[in-house]
Amino acid sequence: MSAGPESTGAISAPLPPAAADRHPALEVDHVDAAYGPYRALFDVSFSVPAGGVVALLGSNGAGKSTVARVVTGLLASAKGTIRINGTDVTGQAAYRIARAGVAHVPEGRGIFANLTVEENLTLVFRQRAGRTMVARSLAAAYEAFPVLGERRKQRGGTLSGGQQRLLSLAKVLVVPPRLLVADELSLGLAPVVVDAVYDGLRRINSAGTALLVVEQQVDRALGLASDAVVLEHGSVAFAGSSDEALAAVEKVLAARGERTIMIDGKAAAAAREAAGQVDPVTKARRDRRWSLGRGRRAKSSGEEEEQP
Ligand code: ATP
Repeated sequence: MSAGPESTGAISAPLPPAAADRHPALEVDHVDAAYGPYRALFDVSFSVPAGGVVALLGSNGAGKSTVARVVTGLLASAKGTIRINGTDVTGQAAYRIARAGVAHVPEGRGIFANLTVEENLTLVFRQRAGRTMVARSLAAAYEAFPVLGERRKQRGGTLSGGQQRLLSLAKVLVVPPRLLVADELSLGLAPVVVDAVYDGLRRINSAGTALLVVEQQVDRALGLASDAVVLEHGSVAFAGSSDEALAAVEKVLAARGERTIMIDGKAAAAAREAAGQVDPVTKARRDRRWSLGRGRRAKSSGEEEEQP
């Protein structure tokens, strides 16, 4: 990806100052959530400031995706309050929360595999920006992510994992939301591809969108976020500045008796094994561990799954 945050292109001017900006983009207030009889979140509270970036960290099964689902209305909370820009949206349907300015790039790809890149983008831009804005929006998306322009006629399902993730981000970039919930976007990707995805997140944030970055690769998320929340067994084990989060993560890992290990080599091997027949995200999910590492070890040993 060539463009950095300073390259504005035709995309999204910074969001206009709104009265709502006096409020945090997101407030999660004493929230419990459950899947049937299984309780997954216990009294979870944290907030994401307007235009800020918060990393949501934790090991497998800690409850990160459940928080993402509750915040975006995919799962109703059993207790507590969710506010978007100061407005109580607790219990509202996902489409209403989306209208309130929340976008969700879920774990996995979230694109139509049988449609081309251009058809995928057109579908979203027509809906969000209006028919007359489609051509301009497409040009803006291709400027931000040139690889998508090169592959505009290619079906979404045949893109690499990283390119599919960029396609998901391009949909968000053109009509910037107040809050983007990015769920494990690095999953199953080679470090160089994760760099491109994180550049995309930076651009979205510099256009004024607040980010809740759900991650297992701790260093990636902390490199972008000013604050972090660490979940453990569905509860908040730490909430504070990114600078202090690393120590909190190490404490949680020590309490679990786990070593801090790299996952990238494993993820890349799983993706190669899949060889296009099995979703590399599924394979990576099976093999991964919570990682503190930057992922450079995989790069230097030639383990990359793909190039952006
Ligand atoms: P991962 O990184 O592995 O996705 P996570 O931190 O995102 O982990 P969640 O997916 O939020 O964790 O899961 C939290 C807990 O809720 C786990 O114990 C998980 O098994 C359980 N859980 C998640 N989804 C469901 C579901 N649909 N039905 C029942 N239990 C679920």
